[in-house]
Amino acid sequence: MSFLRLQAVSRRFGQVAALDAVDLAVPEGSRTAILGPSGSGKSTLLRIVGGFETPDSGRITLGGDLLAEGPRTVPAHLRGIGLVAQEGALFPHLSVADNIGFGLPRATPGREARIAVLLAMVELDPSMLRRRPDQLSGGQQQRVALARALARKPRLMLLDEPFSALDTGLRASTRKAVADLLAAEGITTILVTHDQAEALSFADQVVLLREGRLLQAGKPRDLYLQPRDTTVATFFGEAV
Ligand code: ADP
Ligand code: MG
Repeated sequence: MSFLRLQAVSRRFGQVAALDAVDLAVPEGSRTAILGPSGSGKSTLLRIVGGFETPDSGRITLGGDLLAEGPRTVPAHLRGIGLVAQEGALFPHLSVADNIGFGLPRATPGREARIAVLLAMVELDPSMLRRRPDQLSGGQQQRVALARALARKPRLMLLDEPFSALDTGLRASTRKAVADLLAAEGITTILVTHDQAEALSFADQVVLLREGRLLQAGKPRDLYLQPRDTTVATFFGEAV
């Protein structure tokens, strides 16, 4: 039973078909990794699901709610979807506490306590709350961005290469912390990455895009053992 469903979703930018009739089903509570070369439409797909970009045609539903039918779309803030992008997504002039609390109305009961819980969830020390983003490391900033996305209790979390700016060691530890947290919370997650190892360790479902087309979707093992064509085989052959 799919939770998020895309049917024939297309989006062009001038001559470029950024997404070309993409069908995708994501079960509730699952973790999907989207892989593909640069320019294959990964970010466009996430931005369309998040409501930050509009499809030209196609249909998107989440938990039975219609989010988009062609260019008629539900606004991003009404979708219950969190998005964490590559980097630089924090408000530089706000403290960590105010960044995390940005999506929580001032009058929310227990707002301060909730911010503290969110900080603890992403394994940051309470002493960080009064700091500004430029006083944090890259990995800490991405954890704050994740806490901010979690603040509104999203039913779907979208991660667009959130660890790619981190150095290798920090990337592995941050990835594990984030994966464990999202699994513990049972939040349906889609991770965009160009790192095959990251995708294979994270996901129950891997989706491979190229030039806006979905080449294959399935369990990591299936794409590896039963690639649909030589492109998929070559892509995974390079990685494993
Ligand atoms: P990926 O995230 O896989 O690198 P993108 O979704 O960012 O790919 O881009 C897919 C294609 O669409 C690329 O050719 C890119 O140049 C183009 N594209 C994406 N966004 C825009 C935009 N706002 N304006 C024009 N072209 C865009
Ligand atoms: Mg991208």
